Amino acid sequence: TTAHPSPAASGRPAGGSASADTPMVVADRVVKSFGSHTVLRDISLTVKRGEVLCVVGPSGSGKSTFLRCINHLEKVDGGRLTVDGTLIGYRQRGDKIYEMKPREAAEQRKDIGMVFQRFNLFPHLTVLENIIEAPQQVKRQSKADASKRAMELLTRVGLAEKAKAYPASLSGGQQQRVAIARALAMDPKLMLFDEPTSALDPELVGEVLDVMKQLAADGMTMIVVTHEMGFAREVADTLIFMDGGVVVESGDPREVLGNPQHQRTKAFLSKVL
Ligand code: ADP
Ligand code: MG
Repeated sequence: TTAHPSPAASGRPAGGSASADTPMVVADRVVKSFGSHTVLRDISLTVKRGEVLCVVGPSGSGKSTFLRCINHLEKVDGGRLTVDGTLIGYRQRGDKIYEMKPREAAEQRKDIGMVFQRFNLFPHLTVLENIIEAPQQVKRQSKADASKRAMELLTRVGLAEKAKAYPASLSGGQQQRVAIARALAMDPKLMLFDEPTSALDPELVGEVLDVMKQLAADGMTMIVVTHEMGFAREVADTLIFMDGGVVVESGDPREVLGNPQHQRTKAFLSKVL
């Protein structure tokens, strides 16, 4: 059995209490199971505003599931997960806790950008059309406003000249930079990256990491699941090593990578470094 989420436990109301010092993400003993398979056993961590958290760990350790919980794609079964002070997946009224309605979840998801391993651009839309779709549909922006902003973002990721191109004509690295621009078009307060460079040819990895580095330098709050240890060392404020649904080790990336404390961390790093 899993514990019910307990928003009251923190003394903070379930929503609407965000202020400048509210952490962007707080996971407090988060549990997630699929049937009898407990995938997240006990995830506790904090990501402050403007911070970059890198997450590493072997395949199957629950990294993607954790990101999917933050982005309302999975529901946590226990513990407490908040984004910007707002409880994810649940609503509290008085002492009662309700599962969030799909509409409420969709409302919150607007503020969270996600970039996946596979650049999931719409193949039948141009680069520009890919980027302006959600701002128009979800945020009711005019086509002119959305297009203006899209061109700014394309310039930022170095692809302004590809606005009218179709995804299939772009390299994987270019497609992933468009996917980042598309996520940014919703003005997210948090960006989630799930192995954004794992599907790329090695020579295309750098251009995507450079865009992400710039984003971090501009102050975006980011959670990045990655096996790019150089990126983690340079950009992350905190690196966590996950295995078997728990955070085995967490700290300054130079510390965790240079002087891992746990046998499981050492074994993993010896394989990927
Ligand atoms: P990682 O991203 O670290 O490789 P995942 O979060 O994708 O790990 O998966 C963790 C475990 O959860 C795996 O054993 C996977 O098979 C299982 N899992 C993930 N999603 C589902 C699902 N929708 N239904 C059942 N099992 C799942
Ligand atoms: Mg994964």
